[in-house]
Amino acid sequence: MQVIPARWGALAAAVLAVSLVAGCGGDSVQPAPAASTAPADPDPAAHMRTVLIDPGHNGGNDAKQMAKKVPDGRGHTKACNTTGTSTDAGYPEHRFNFYVAAEVRQLLISNGINVVVTRTNDTGVGPCVDARGKQAAEVNADAVVSIHADGAVPNGQGFHVIYPKPPLNTAQGAPSVSLATALRDALRGAGFPESNYAGKDGLVGRSDLAGLNFSKRPVAMVECANMRNPQEAVTVSNSVGQARYAQAIAVGILAWLRDHPPVSTTPSASAEPSAGSDGDRAQADESETSSSRTSASSKASARPKPTN
Ligand code: ZN
Repeated sequence: MQVIPARWGALAAAVLAVSLVAGCGGDSVQPAPAASTAPADPDPAAHMRTVLIDPGHNGGNDAKQMAKKVPDGRGHTKACNTTGTSTDAGYPEHRFNFYVAAEVRQLLISNGINVVVTRTNDTGVGPCVDARGKQAAEVNADAVVSIHADGAVPNGQGFHVIYPKPPLNTAQGAPSVSLATALRDALRGAGFPESNYAGKDGLVGRSDLAGLNFSKRPVAMVECANMRNPQEAVTVSNSVGQARYAQAIAVGILAWLRDHPPVSTTPSASAEPSAGSDGDRAQADESETSSSRTSASSKASARPKPTN
């Protein structure tokens, strides 16, 4: 079941009209034109690209679940999940993440992408962060993007995009760095400032996030803004600001997909992360959500339909 506020559909459509035409930095992304000369694809569903979108954190708090420790993928443990940070006025990160993710989803679907989300409501708990990372391979995602906002010092400002470092498998290496870079470029092109307190040039490599560590597909986590910064708190708390973030993220994902055509239908290869935990940084940051888990075979033709 999916619970998606009605405004999202209309808003996403409006954003798509503006955004994907305007593009970011001139990098317009539009629906692929119908091929008039190419033979019809006998099985178009088999060739759809799949993107796993993770609206970070839980909609609700559950003491029992939050007390649960799960592997972080590098030999440690961390909390299953949390509700994340909030603005000083109390606007919760999980809500921002969920709204932005829903709009990104609509934009990607409008561009012919199969989208799976890790949670389909903003009230429940779970799934744990390790499960969200594992879901990438379960749905045979081409790319995975986790959406968050940070809770840092008040004068900290700007976005940063996180990739797993050091990589635990092939997908976490160059493909994830390039995905993070595409998202960085899109956010930058949309006029968002790079972080003045985390990473360099809007990019950060981290080892402590289970959602990244357990992914066997190219993965990146976007920290859209610092919710504790007074100016950014305003932007993240309203639908116009949320739509701008969603637009930029969708543009970045579509640009990356365009530059990274499907490799094959072979299962993704790679090293297994060790069982461990997930250490978040200042505020928890990687919660992910529930969901639509599907057992997906690694064959493109067996890809599950969108579950959300
Ligand atoms: Zn977060």
